[in-house]
Amino acid sequence: MLVMAGLLSAAGVIGAVVALTKGTPLPSWAEAALIGLVGPIAAGLVFIRFFYWKQISNSVEITPNQLPEVYDAYRAMARKMGMEEVPRLYLSNGNGTLNAFASKCQVRRTYVVIFSDLIDIAYEHGDFDGVNFVLAHELGHIKCGHVNLWRQGIMAVPRLLFLGRSVVRAQEYTADRCAAYYAPEGALSMMSLVAGKRMYRHINLEAYQASVRDHDDGFWLKFVNFWSDHAVGFRRIQPLVDIEKTGWDVHGKML
Ligand SMILES: [Zn+2]
Repeated sequence: MLVMAGLLSAAGVIGAVVALTKGTPLPSWAEAALIGLVGPIAAGLVFIRFFYWKQISNSVEITPNQLPEVYDAYRAMARKMGMEEVPRLYLSNGNGTLNAFASKCQVRRTYVVIFSDLIDIAYEHGDFDGVNFVLAHELGHIKCGHVNLWRQGIMAVPRLLFLGRSVVRAQEYTADRCAAYYAPEGALSMMSLVAGKRMYRHINLEAYQASVRDHDDGFWLKFVNFWSDHAVGFRRIQPLVDIEKTGWDVHGKML
């Protein structure tokens, strides 16, 4: 997906240069490619700073003295992944949403935000493995370079062609595989994403899988998955189940 995004962007830039030298109007895809080139610079200067401050000024930083159990697990995971600098970690009110993300706060600095509803599964149910998986997933995004600004630069043309979500979806699978490698014992806690932070522990996985198989694996499921930046539950859970049988190197379906 990354190579595709790079090639599409390169084609867009070449097309823009050709149009400019001929003095003809720029087609929209060529415009997008040019904007993609300058976008990361603008993002580096303004957007990531704004978004970072907007997010963290309403969050609690997790440190050795604040939720130390989570911080220790996070730092240990970052070290295990060979990261020299441990990105800052923040807890944010999820208001029922199970989410976490990694991003840039400066051109060279990254951070991770985890929503409270995901931390709840550790403090309410003692499921620290699940939180560990989420932390490994987010650090995986950083480790694999998904938050690098140049990636934003090559996303403009794919987004115009409705392929932007597919690039993100591929990155999500990669981050899941990264987490499956470093924290496989927490993989199935991701059921909380589809069943909720309390009910996920009561889900019969075999019955869930049988039910997924019982649904038509046709156009509409593929289309909905194609239109999602994170693979839908019907797609995302299966590789996480397969970890037990085949190990961490598991792929979900892109469609
Ligand atoms: Zn992710």
